[in-house]
Amino acid sequence: MRIAVAKETSLNERRVALVPEVVRRLIKDGHQVLIEKGAGETAFFPDEQYREAGAELVASAKEAFSGAELVLKVQPPGTEEIAEMRSGQAVAGFMAPHRVMDRIEVMQKAGITVFAVELIPRISRAQSMDALSSQATVAGYKAALIAADTTHRFFPMLTTAAGTIRPAKVLVLGAGVAGLMAIATARRLGALVEAYDVRRAAGEQVRSLGAKFLELQIDAEAEGGYARELTEQEKEQERAMVAAAVAQADAVITTANIPGRSAPRLVSADMVQAMRPGSIIVDLAAETGGNCELTQAGQTVNEGGVVIAGPLNVPSMLAVHASEMYARNLQSFSGLLVGEGGAYAPDWEDEIIKGSALMRDGEVLHGPTLKLLKQGDTE
Ligand code: NAD
Repeated sequence: MRIAVAKETSLNERRVALVPEVVRRLIKDGHQVLIEKGAGETAFFPDEQYREAGAELVASAKEAFSGAELVLKVQPPGTEEIAEMRSGQAVAGFMAPHRVMDRIEVMQKAGITVFAVELIPRISRAQSMDALSSQATVAGYKAALIAADTTHRFFPMLTTAAGTIRPAKVLVLGAGVAGLMAIATARRLGALVEAYDVRRAAGEQVRSLGAKFLELQIDAEAEGGYARELTEQEKEQERAMVAAAVAQADAVITTANIPGRSAPRLVSADMVQAMRPGSIIVDLAAETGGNCELTQAGQTVNEGGVVIAGPLNVPSMLAVHASEMYARNLQSFSGLLVGEGGAYAPDWEDEIIKGSALMRDGEVLHGPTLKLLKQGDTE
C-alpha cells in the first residue's frame, strides 16, 4: 500500500499523522510511505528522520497524494487537499463531519473513501486504534498542568521553615479518559483531588487514583459506556452537589461530554462567583460548547479574579507525544485496510471498518452525517 502524509494545513495544528518510528514499521511491513517535506517540523520530527526511516520525501501534498491509496491526516482535509485527491482514494483522520459539512460535500463529489478515527468502535479489538483515548490522555495531562501553572497557589503540601502550605484542592468534572489523566497528574503534583462523573462505574477508577469520588445517587451510564443526558430532577441534584464542590476548589478541570450533543453545562456563572479569587477553571469541553457557562472557546478570561481557560486543540500543545500515540493508532488501523499480499483491500464486513467509514467512494455511510446533509438540502 502507498501511504501519504502531507503537512497539516489547519490553523494551530502542530501534530503530524505519522512519526518516523511508525514509518519504519510500516515500511518493514512492506508499505511505501510518502511524506511532504516539513510535515513533521511543527511536531519536532525533521525530514532527515523520515528519510532515515525509509520514507520518500516529496515537495508537495499533490506529489504525496498522487499514486497513494491511503492518505493519513490529523485534521479533516482542506478543500485544496481534497482537490489533489482522486476517486477511490482513501483518507483517514479526525473528520468532525458536523463541523465541516461543506468539505463533506466536496469529498462526496470527489468520490473518495473517508475513515473517521473518532467513529472507530470502542471494542477491545480496536483499543490500539483508539485515537479518541490517546488524544484525551494528552489533553487530560495538559489540562492539569495548565491549572497548576495558572493558579497562584502551590499544588503540593509543603512543610517549610516559612510555615506549612496546605495542598491545593482540585475538582475534576467528568472522569472519562481525559478526566482520569487529569486526576492522576494533579495527584502526582500533590493536590487533593475530588472528581465527579454521572457514570457510577467511574467511581472505582477515580478512587484507585487516590482521589475522592463525589457520589450522586444516580447512574447515567448508557449504551457503549457513554453517558446519557440527565433528567431535569437529576440535573437539579447534580447542580447542588457540584456547586458545593466548586466553591471549595482552587482549581476545577472540566472534561464532561455526551457524544453527538453539546457539552453539559455543569458550572454556572453563580458558581464561578462563589469561587475564591486566584482560582482557575480549565474547561476541556470548550470545543463542544463548554462545561462552564462563562467559558469562551480558545480564550482565557478573568471573572472577578477567577481565571477561566477554554483551550482548543489541547493535544496539539504536546505535539511530540500526541503525534507518536496518534501515529501508532493509525498504524494499527491501517493494518485493517490491507488484504492478502498487503494491497489496499478493506474488508467491508469488518465491524471496525464499517463503523469508521464516513464515506465509501463518495457515498456517505454515516447516519448522522447523512441526516445533516439532508437537513442542509431542505434549508
Ligand atoms: P467522553 O469524552 O465522551 O466524556 C467524558 C466524561 O464525561 C465521561 O466519563 C462521561 O460519563 C462524563 N459526563 C457526561 N455528562 C456528565 C455530567 N453531566 N456530569 C459529569 N460527567 C459527565 O468520554 P470518554 O473519555 O471518551 O469515555 C467514555 C467511556 O468510554 C468511558 O466509560 C470509558 O471507560 C469508555 N472507553 C472505552 C474504551 C474501550 O473499551 N476501548 C476506550 C476508551 C473509553
